[in-house]
Amino acid sequence: MGRALVAANWKMNGSRRLAREIMDGLRAGGVDRLQARVAVCPPFVYLEQVAALAEGLPVAVGAQNLGDHEGGAYTGEVSAAMLAEAGCRYVIVGHSERRALYGEDDGTVARKFELALSAGLTPILCVGETPDEREAGRTDAVVQGQLRAVLSHAGTDAFAEAVVAYEPVWAIGSGRSASPAQAQAVHRLIRDTIAAQDATIAAALPILYGGSVKPDNAGELFAMEDIDGGLIGGASLDADDFLAICRTAG
Ligand code: PEP
Repeated sequence: MGRALVAANWKMNGSRRLAREIMDGLRAGGVDRLQARVAVCPPFVYLEQVAALAEGLPVAVGAQNLGDHEGGAYTGEVSAAMLAEAGCRYVIVGHSERRALYGEDDGTVARKFELALSAGLTPILCVGETPDEREAGRTDAVVQGQLRAVLSHAGTDAFAEAVVAYEPVWAIGSGRSASPAQAQAVHRLIRDTIAAQDATIAAALPILYGGSVKPDNAGELFAMEDIDGGLIGGASLDADDFLAICRTAG
């Protein structure tokens, strides 16, 4: 792995005003002096605004979702090509909120992953178990299943251009992060699963941790061997907190 990546997921939060405040805060707080690579994923309607505000800064823009078709009669959807044209470099695919609240199954996630790549975007593929699945000792099986669904559809080579985010559902927005050891164990499993197909691609794959990362726990998580950065929800809505998290990622 090269430099760490820290990505902000604003979810369905913000306004034009907050977008400007956060981007101004990142600029003033020295986002251009970080070691880590940084990405910001606002809601669709703020993408172009954030892309314009990020001009001249080492901040990439990402979307939180994309449509599962190339284009056409799919009212309300946004295609991968549209996101690329709006200035996106990344797109989050298969976030647990999409899987749980909008019925996205592994097949849909795999299709979106491929569509993102074919438009030149880097998909950030989210995987992670629910609290019940962890309780039942099914974490490894669930995470490997989610990963293999995409691997079998898109092929191993696709992971040379992708990012994976391990986000245990019980840790998202709960204030209860996975421990560094818990997260590391799943990150290792993810890397080993890809390595079984291609060791070089696995070694270079950025694997982010997401789930209640805050300035006070980011450092110990990012210090783990297979944790290559983070996907940050709540704490990314405050520029100072987000920057503090980014500073802990080397
Ligand atoms: C997320 O939604 O991707 C996330 C990690 O949220 P939070 O940091 O708020 O737990």
